[in-house]
Amino acid sequence: MTKSLDVVLVGGGIMSATLGAMIQRVQPEWSIRIYESLGEVANESSNPWNNAGTGHSALCELNYMPEGPGGALDPAKAININEQFQLSRQFWASLVQAGDLPEPTKFINSTPHMTFVHGRDNVDYLRRRYEVLKDQPLFAGMEFSDDPAVIAEWAPLLMKGRSPRQRVAATRATAGTDVDFGALTRALVANLVERGAELSLNRRVTSIRRTKDGLWKIGVRHQVGGTPHSVTARFVFVGAGGGALHLLQKAGIPEIKGFGGFPISGEFLRTTNPKLVAQHHAKIYGKAAVGAPPMSVPHLDTRVVNGEASLMFGPYAGFSPKFLKKGSWFDLPGSIRAGNLWPMLAVARDNLDLMKYLVTELLASRAKKLKALREFIPTVKGDDWELITAGQRVQVMKKDAKRGGVLQFGTEVVTGKDGSIAGLLGASPGASTAVPIMLGLLEKCFPEQFPAWKPRLKDLIPTFGTTLNDSPEKAQQVMASTAQTLGLTA
Ligand SMILES: Cc1cc2nc3c(=O)[nH]c(=O)nc-3n(C[C@H](O)[C@H](O)[C@H](O)COP(=O)(O)OP(=O)(O)OC[C@H]3O[C@@H](n4cnc5c(N)ncnc54)[C@H](O)[C@@H]3O)c2cc1C
Repeated sequence: MTKSLDVVLVGGGIMSATLGAMIQRVQPEWSIRIYESLGEVANESSNPWNNAGTGHSALCELNYMPEGPGGALDPAKAININEQFQLSRQFWASLVQAGDLPEPTKFINSTPHMTFVHGRDNVDYLRRRYEVLKDQPLFAGMEFSDDPAVIAEWAPLLMKGRSPRQRVAATRATAGTDVDFGALTRALVANLVERGAELSLNRRVTSIRRTKDGLWKIGVRHQVGGTPHSVTARFVFVGAGGGALHLLQKAGIPEIKGFGGFPISGEFLRTTNPKLVAQHHAKIYGKAAVGAPPMSVPHLDTRVVNGEASLMFGPYAGFSPKFLKKGSWFDLPGSIRAGNLWPMLAVARDNLDLMKYLVTELLASRAKKLKALREFIPTVKGDDWELITAGQRVQVMKKDAKRGGVLQFGTEVVTGKDGSIAGLLGASPGASTAVPIMLGLLEKCFPEQFPAWKPRLKDLIPTFGTTLNDSPEKAQQVMASTAQTLGLTA
């Protein structure tokens, strides 16, 4: 019998890579093995062409600060998202400083975050949102304009060919970022391996079972040839993205009962036309259509992947029963259990607007897709843009005492009672918040060790456990310091 491992990470995406990097720093002698079913890491949602690469910090995403009753605007959620991203920035900056991550432009680049709206009510909302945020320390430097000439200066493609009669407004935050989460994942995993972790590619985890002595037995199949093998581990993290629900169900932990997954597929339009790319340097978020899920808000993005800039627009949402891009058509039906059937039916009953929206999006012609892009670039020419398939998002459906079941757009860490197994469901705000999510997971799964780990974690993430937005000086100092290390606009 081979020796048990301390930690098995299932899946080679940003979540496993982040957790592994943290564990290696607080408990360097622990053995870690990553199982990845594909031939490379970061080829599902963490791949740069499968996500939008927004360093989500609520600088431009309206869904983090929707209008409440009577037009009320509460910045709490936006501030919280920004606070979380600051933790990610600090962790990455520490690893760059230690020489454990490469030159930062390989994975993060300054890209102004803008919001653009048109129509009187939307202009009014954006102005009021700006008035609330501009005095928040983490949003310092945010600009607002309803002057077409100023907006044209910020983003020329937005205004070229636009009717002068249209009422428009935009905000801009130059502290925004574009993140290549694929490059970041690959770099984190390479560093994990350098420090002694094992990476097993082309190995699909097929089962997770509890052994009599309290370990986890992980069944693995080689993707080429199908040879099975198994290992035991003291702790398992199911970072399998869309594959996590099935594996947690297989592990049989009671905590997963009542959870279901609702897959939403996506597409982006992309151009590499140097003339267009040269005229645009921003991530511009608009307002969601009625019934649209929050993460389907259209946005026009500068992307920097492998040092090359391109523009991406989308995502166009759609429906596919697969839970991973390279998943199976049986993923959705295969996830149905007696315990989650009722919550799933309740979600279908309560989200007819969303269903209608997804079917409409799925059936949308290329002409209709270009029409949506024309809202951002009035002079768009279809030939410049190619359609690419984005990653799958599996939204969380869970039991709810009142309504039977609810659909959630955030992430949910599901942990076994004794903390020896955990998995991550859901997709938003996603990769940007991998660091705070994994800090929370460590605290929950390792309550005994965590107090001793805290000082080391605070070395890496100095403001961990505190907030920045309540102190303008501290917020400014921390943002300036991470900006300097990561080569970003402060
Ligand atoms: C369209 C879209 C846009 C997005 N935009 C953004 C954005 O702008 N900003 C942001 O921060 N986040 C964004 N996200 C979310 C972000 O991409 C995800 O939250 C993040 O990449 C998830 O990382 P992960 O490690 O959990 O999963 P993944 O990156 O999907 O990794 C899971 C890995 O597990 C492997 N795997 C699965 N099953 C098994 C198995 N049985 N055995 C072994 N390996 C297995 C898979 O092959 C994969 O490599 C977006 C997502 C999508 C789909």
